[in-house]
Amino acid sequence: MSSEGTRNAAPVAGAEPATGHRPTSVQLSERVHAVLGGVNCAIVDVGDGRALLVDSGQDKEYGRKVRKALDALGLELAVILATHSHADHYGGNAYLLRQFPEARVWAPEIEAEIIRTPALEPIYLFHGAKPLPELTGKWLQAEASPVHRVLTAGRDAVGAAGLELLDVRGHAHRQLAVLVDDVLLAADAVFGAETLEKYPIPFAQDVVGQLRACETVAGVSARVLLPGHGAPTEDLVGVAASNRAAVLRAAAAVLAACAAPGARSGASTEDVVVGSAESLGVVLDDLARYHLNYCVVSAHLGRLRELGEVTCAVEGGRLVWRRVAHGADGREDRSTPVAQSRRLEEGGNA
Ligand SMILES: [Zn+2]
Repeated sequence: MSSEGTRNAAPVAGAEPATGHRPTSVQLSERVHAVLGGVNCAIVDVGDGRALLVDSGQDKEYGRKVRKALDALGLELAVILATHSHADHYGGNAYLLRQFPEARVWAPEIEAEIIRTPALEPIYLFHGAKPLPELTGKWLQAEASPVHRVLTAGRDAVGAAGLELLDVRGHAHRQLAVLVDDVLLAADAVFGAETLEKYPIPFAQDVVGQLRACETVAGVSARVLLPGHGAPTEDLVGVAASNRAAVLRAAAAVLAACAAPGARSGASTEDVVVGSAESLGVVLDDLARYHLNYCVVSAHLGRLRELGEVTCAVEGGRLVWRRVAHGADGREDRSTPVAQSRRLEEGGNA
């Protein structure tokens, strides 16, 4: 996996044999086939020789890979359901729509707008300004795609396949996961274990939502889960728990990187980005990764402020953050890490 700043994307070890026959897809259930790679997509056989595709990968190459898998299964593409608007999940749309002009694209609100106007992703990562060219590579800006239908959570169907669309917003503002039969296509609601290990700050745009999404995933009655990055797993509860733990670890690292209560000089947002990355062993050595981490840290700081754990102020032209004292005498209560972690956890249900 590149260091170009993908959102927790990592190659799936062992997904494909190194030599010889390469399967184009792996069957997860009677009608669900996973197309595995650095980003996972899923083909759902909806009957009458038609297919629903859940996510299309990052670019034309992924589109080609999906096309091959559809051909091998003898299916025509009817619908592409984009779970969210991160470039690595819908970048294959444009190619596939040229191959299957009749296919329709479905996506959740907000996400749909970015899929239609992909420049919005590097623009928001660069605080609304014209983005640096390093932020407009294919990892962060895909080819534009139409969206024909805007989705909300609930029951849905394509052909003979009944779907349950689950609200797992958090990693992205309105992300959906798809439950088909007994397979949960979770996209980036949760990451596979090996991905979490490699990227210990799970990308988030709304941390309260991200923690709720972990609970949602843990509560789904499914036989197998396909994450957007990582291997399929039958351990839904385990993968949800390790994601929740990673999010809470990131929250604690962000909190610890803020200045102490009453400190004369607060910690700037940049200080918090550096401090939390260092304590979690994350290397920020390129523009894309830096801006992605800045976004996650901002999401955590926003939640910590809502929880009353930090304050922010503009001082001397810097946006600075300080922890809030919880001790009885107004000093920071460092003796109760248990109380602090309980507050961070309970904030997930706020
Ligand atoms: Zn994503």
